[in-house]
Amino acid sequence: MLDRFNPCEGRVTVPTREINEGIMDNYAYAAPSSVAETVALLADHASAGRQTQILAGGTDVLVQMRAPGHTPRTIVDIKALAETNRFEISAAGIYIGSAVPSAVINENAQLQEILPGLLEAADLIGSTQIQGRATICGNLCNASPAGDSIPAMIAAGAVCEIATHSGSRDLPVEEFVVGVGRNALAAGEFLLGLKLPMPASNTKDAYLRFTPRTEMDIAVAGVGVSLTVEGKQCVNARVAIGAVAPTARLVPAAAQALIGTELDAQALQMAGEACKAAASPISDKRGTVEYRKKVVAVLCRRAVAIAQQRVQGG
Ligand SMILES: Cc1cc2nc3c(=O)[nH]c(=O)nc-3n(C[C@H](O)[C@H](O)[C@H](O)COP(=O)(O)OP(=O)(O)OC[C@H]3O[C@@H](n4cnc5c(N)ncnc54)[C@H](O)[C@@H]3O)c2cc1C
Repeated sequence: MLDRFNPCEGRVTVPTREINEGIMDNYAYAAPSSVAETVALLADHASAGRQTQILAGGTDVLVQMRAPGHTPRTIVDIKALAETNRFEISAAGIYIGSAVPSAVINENAQLQEILPGLLEAADLIGSTQIQGRATICGNLCNASPAGDSIPAMIAAGAVCEIATHSGSRDLPVEEFVVGVGRNALAAGEFLLGLKLPMPASNTKDAYLRFTPRTEMDIAVAGVGVSLTVEGKQCVNARVAIGAVAPTARLVPAAAQALIGTELDAQALQMAGEACKAAASPISDKRGTVEYRKKVVAVLCRRAVAIAQQRVQGG
């Protein structure tokens, strides 16, 4: 068991055995009550050479804790912080704090109307039970290539607000994941939440993924799309792909293929081909490189058509 390590007053440190004999042995638990306390705790642990791991919904963390090689550390629960529970929708934009469970955003009628694509991605994560705990920020921080919400966040233009020792910094979601299981957070930092621009009424998004099973599976490929349409013409677009490269990727060439067109078959075909060209997938039991590339192009065309229908179909 780790020594009780208590650099921050008010922090709760629970020796593992008091929580769950066996599984959590050698782990410590902290639930700071402010952002400053959390950042100080992370920094103190880092300088003392002790590992930490943020706990949001825990739907990845709890699985990881049972995996071989998961070494003793302090689990830092961020659910008690006012900032991470912030969930606001206003004309100025949308804020989704990093402790807000997916179920809360999925059931918000206003968000269903303005960001249907982001919610269809969030709604694919696990089951109703998983969504009661899981956060989309946890999905992002976990940095799985197949994380469903990530391409949808990128398409919607989401920006990460990161708590740092000197305050906070912003980073676009497309720059946040830097490799498989790796994100851009420095030691002592954690994700406070996501800022999203308020979409205009003629801007709509969509997310589609392909899985071998209909439920509870990992994406073979995924595509997030956001379109702005004036009359019949597409005047702005963002397209992002997931599960077909080490990280989700923004595909500017796909957006360029759509902008200025009436989203005809040729434009959709070119956008799909751009996604295919931007993909660098692996072959595994879920699909070969060739298969994933083909699927990502198909998903792009279909997601564009859905977003278009959402704008034009009223
Ligand atoms: C049965 C099941 C089905 C699933 N299905 C899917 C699926 O279909 N699609 C999919 O994409 N995922 C799926 N997942 C994975 C998981 O549920 C999601 O990744 C979920 O969104 C993680 O959110 P969380 O709040 O539980 O994260 P946690 O488990 O709390 O954290 C995940 C990781 O991110 C870090 N982290 C969390 N929050 C922060 C923060 N604010 N700052 C810094 N680091 C942070 C943690 O330290 C950890 O490394 C599934 C999981 C299970 C158990």
